Amino acid sequence: MRLKNMKKAFKIAVDGPSGSGKSTIAKKVAKKLEIEYIDTGAMYRAVGYKMICEGISRGETNRIREILSRTEIDFRGTDIFLDGICISNKIRTPEVAKMASSFSALPEVREKLVELQRKMAGEKSIIMDGRDIGTNVLSDAEYKVFLTASIRERALRRWKEMKDKGEEISLKQVEDEMIQRDFNDATRTINPLRKAKGALEIDTTEMTIEEVVETIIQSIK
Ligand code: C5P
Repeated sequence: MRLKNMKKAFKIAVDGPSGSGKSTIAKKVAKKLEIEYIDTGAMYRAVGYKMICEGISRGETNRIREILSRTEIDFRGTDIFLDGICISNKIRTPEVAKMASSFSALPEVREKLVELQRKMAGEKSIIMDGRDIGTNVLSDAEYKVFLTASIRERALRRWKEMKDKGEEISLKQVEDEMIQRDFNDATRTINPLRKAKGALEIDTTEMTIEEVVETIIQSIK
């Protein structure tokens, strides 16, 4: 189906907790519909990664502002670039995830990234995934999806991914870190993780990736 040929551009917002399948599914929907995909989690990870490199802690507001003012983030295809350097293979670590979650609660970080995300979305058809896309970044999106899955299933998916990459970590540790990150994301003051009004909620616990992709495409049709 070539929705990209529709006269009017449309936006699809996908939100949900970590491990709910957002990125995998959004990427596949983008491919099927031949539209662009923007992974906002990768952008928060890029900020987390930069703060690790610069040795910054969350309380150093002035330094954080100064660093953000000279930070450039952009996508080339599915790769993410920080200040002109590809960091795609550096940001999928528990350490970066923790920093991303911690710094994502800061107003200066959210302000910068949300502005950039809206600029990237522009006037074209896109699918964007994150935590606050349907509620805030693209609150006027034509289609909104909220993905969930049980914590056990989400942790298992992440743990398998890490095992495949050769990382030694227990399922219990992955699950504990995920619970903490979900708690941070859902309880922060600014744009917490929430299901947007009117969003299609899909529990992916017992669904295959293809089934979820198809459910989304059917709902758009
Ligand atoms: O989706 P992913 O796990 O890559 O996101 C990393 C972190 O970035 C999340 O735990 C969350 O704290 C933050 N994030 C956010 N808002 C978004 C996307 C991600 O706060 N729109």
